[in-house]
Amino acid sequence: LSEKTWKAKRLEMIERYEETETREIFVKEEEIWRYLEETKNPDPQEVREILAKAYTLAGLGPRETAVLINTTDPDLLEEMYDMAWKVRRKVYGNRLVLFAPLYLSSECVNNCIYCGFRAANKAMVRKTLNDQEIEEEVRALIRMGHKRLLLVYGEHPNSDVDYMVRSIARVYSIKEGPGEIRRVNVNAAPLTVEEYKEVHAVGIGTYQVFQETYHPETYRKVHPKGDLKHSYKWRLFALHRAQEAGIDDVAIGVLFGLYDWRFEVMATIYHALDMEREFGVGPHTVSFPRLEPAINTPFTYKSPYRIDDATLKKIIAIYRLAIPYTGLILTAREPAALRQELFKVGVSQTDAGSNISLGGYSRRERGLEMQQFLINDERTLDDFIYSAMQDGFIPSFCTACYRAGRTGDNFMPFAKTGLIQNFCTPNGYLTLKEYLLDYASEKTRQLGEQHIQEYFREAEAKKPKMAALVKDYMRRIEEEGER
Ligand code: SAM
Ligand code: SF4
Repeated sequence: LSEKTWKAKRLEMIERYEETETREIFVKEEEIWRYLEETKNPDPQEVREILAKAYTLAGLGPRETAVLINTTDPDLLEEMYDMAWKVRRKVYGNRLVLFAPLYLSSECVNNCIYCGFRAANKAMVRKTLNDQEIEEEVRALIRMGHKRLLLVYGEHPNSDVDYMVRSIARVYSIKEGPGEIRRVNVNAAPLTVEEYKEVHAVGIGTYQVFQETYHPETYRKVHPKGDLKHSYKWRLFALHRAQEAGIDDVAIGVLFGLYDWRFEVMATIYHALDMEREFGVGPHTVSFPRLEPAINTPFTYKSPYRIDDATLKKIIAIYRLAIPYTGLILTAREPAALRQELFKVGVSQTDAGSNISLGGYSRRERGLEMQQFLINDERTLDDFIYSAMQDGFIPSFCTACYRAGRTGDNFMPFAKTGLIQNFCTPNGYLTLKEYLLDYASEKTRQLGEQHIQEYFREAEAKKPKMAALVKDYMRRIEEEGER
């Protein structure tokens, strides 16, 4: 189909959907503003009670979230950050899950005013990777040490659902030395239930669709009329449809900088609660990208709603406290020093060694006219791992939950009670061991081995059976070459 015909057909399908979808819009605008108004200048006692509740991992409701949003006293904010870090440690221990984004296409029929890939942007070079190019990129990523990828697609007939399925299968099929990609997550446009089923069948981890902004009026302004992305409802229930199709790890997010961050944080909580209500499972991860400059895209620096670093920190703490079981993803959009600070608030997943230029990993270059926006942390994966370990984190490439079927509502009971540590911590160290043997520089290997020894010292005292089991796995990795 030509681009025009494809777009017209999809538009017609989305319009039909808009008329027939009976789910109620869960973003309660009036209620959100009322809660934000009612909880202004909160009583410190109330704030502390909410923090104590958050520590039980019970999660927070919209009103409690509003109280935290309205907390501005510096001492209380420090208490909030400390509590977020405690909750983070309770649920995730000290591990930091690592992945790499892989952009497969820069062709897009939409015109989101903040995105370098928007169709009208003539400064952007358009490309959709072919089989050979995908293979080159994936081999380069495996050689760096990656095990988890996030595949990113524009919305275009050249990267339709058939292409998505083919490219995902291709990624899984590639073996390079001792390595392979073990989990493929996807960030792409919303699909129909039938299309999601196809993507599910090929074996994806998480499907991400960011709402960008939950504010309906702003949503329609930044996603022009006539575009596939113009329909608020089609996007708002995108991941409800994905869950209907059997994809039970789904991921939400706001692009901060489009509208009032306080409204967006509240709406994110409503989104998580609505998923829990309908499917018994909240979002597997939440992302909080900030608007970054993109080539020939002036809106990215003109928007009045851009948020500063302190606000981003507060947002991360609130998410960690309100939806404790959810993975929080911070990306290389943010500069290195800030990232290191934010990891200590509540982040549990991050990308490292990223290159978002199409074909950039294998060609080792970053063509600005080939990427959606600019990233601010260009450290290599090995440098990233070294500094994360210096800060006390254990970089993890673990994909065991997904491979052992602990997804969706099989995963949540573990995550919600913090028991996940019993799997994640040892598995994290095992994947670190693989990385150290197969890919690490000498200094990273030495530091990593020190961390592993420390882990054993503690585990042998507290959980001798577990320590013995992990020791045996480590031996099999080191001496028998098992991966
Ligand atoms: N095209 C699909 C879509 O829009 O859902 C999927 C991929 S899009 C390439 C991935 C995400 O990048 C978007 O959801 C948006 O949040 C983010 N993004 C777009 N422009 C950005 C910018 N200038 N700065 C930071 N993030 C941006
Ligand atoms: Fe296309 Fe997604 Fe960029 Fe919008 S955000 S222009 S849909 S790639």
